Amino acid sequence: MTVKPKIRGFICTTAHPDGCRAIVGSQIGYVKKAGKINGPKKVLVIGASMGYGLASRIAAAYGCGAATIGVIFDKPGSETKTASAGWYNTAAFEEFAHADGLYAKTVNGDAFSSGIKEQVIELIKKDLGKVDMVIYSLAAPRRTTSDGTVYSSVLKTTGKEFTNKTIDVRSGEISEATISPATETEIFATVKVMGGEDWKEWIGALRSADVIEDGAVTVAYSYIGPEMTHPIYKDGSIGRAKDHLAATAKEITRSIDGVNAYVSVNKALVTQSSAAIPIVPLYISILYKVMKDMGLHEGCIEQMYRLLAEKIYGGTVKTDENGLIRLDDLEMRDDVQEKVGEIWNSISSGNISECADLDGYRKDFNRLFGFDADGIDYEADTDTAVGIPSLT
Ligand code: NAD
Repeated sequence: MTVKPKIRGFICTTAHPDGCRAIVGSQIGYVKKAGKINGPKKVLVIGASMGYGLASRIAAAYGCGAATIGVIFDKPGSETKTASAGWYNTAAFEEFAHADGLYAKTVNGDAFSSGIKEQVIELIKKDLGKVDMVIYSLAAPRRTTSDGTVYSSVLKTTGKEFTNKTIDVRSGEISEATISPATETEIFATVKVMGGEDWKEWIGALRSADVIEDGAVTVAYSYIGPEMTHPIYKDGSIGRAKDHLAATAKEITRSIDGVNAYVSVNKALVTQSSAAIPIVPLYISILYKVMKDMGLHEGCIEQMYRLLAEKIYGGTVKTDENGLIRLDDLEMRDDVQEKVGEIWNSISSGNISECADLDGYRKDFNRLFGFDADGIDYEADTDTAVGIPSLT
């Protein structure tokens, strides 16, 4: 069938298999060119099908030559319906990896569940023995805990209402968004979903089953950002979850023998999850413009390659005074933020095209779902019933 984008709010409900394959291929091409890293050899990536998790898997496999197991939560396609983009990304990644002689297997299911944890542990025992790195890159709207309770995360402020500029990325219209404060119950639920509890459960389960090496590293991802986004991010309900994640890193290192846990603070980028946060897409479009003009722009793959090559495996692990790895070092540079701040104050619907990289934002959004990839004929018929090799 011919596949066209069907965008509904912050997501696209279709995905293009050939486009996803081409984009995964170009990320692999980036790492092959960037060179080898003396890094981990057996890596588990939880949340491996999109965004930072997918890029982490590619950087580990192609940078370090690592065997990878990816945990994903994706839907297959059929002759008449497209799969989720993460499904196509994973199918393509495995296909490339196997052709290049790299071990790559995938477990598809809810990473929060104990059933999937057990399945992964069995797979590690059978195929790899132990893993030496665990990347935790889940971005989820909800979590069902083992007692059956469903927690939903919210993107709200804490304390008081907050109003600031926002953008409709489709129309380019700038307006004001008012974000209401989360209740204590909503904050609690957001911490349950996006905090560190499940990360610690994973590492505890891997340790108890003796499938994690002594001296293994585990990393989860966070964001801080500049002041204009603090009420909605750093000081918002999601920020509370990220504080919990950072505290969990310290707790894992302290309480789980032989495992060193870190939180890496990454750059703001267009992904399925960041697109859903009010105000942030406008900030990202301005940031893209400023960082591209200054020659400092990076995407997920550049960030994840740098994380492994320079921050974690390039000698000692590089952290700030709070123990956080700062991959947002370029984003947070004073000269970058001064420029972003100036633009933020003067931007309007009338000057958006000169002030922000809205085209770059839209292109990156389309590319999340395999659209806007170079060299793909989007008018051509394509096979949407693509299988993931290790799952067929
Ligand atoms: P993303 O939406 O691109 O990827 C999230 C991944 O998690 C997807 O592969 C999704 O399928 C998977 N997932 C979700 N629920 C799952 C479940 N129950 N079981 C298994 N897999 C599941 O998001 P992202 O932006 O790459 O976010 C990853 C992490 O990076 C998050 O912690 C996020 O807060 C953080 N981060 C993101 C940004 C950004 O700007 N995008 C910046 C800094 C940090």
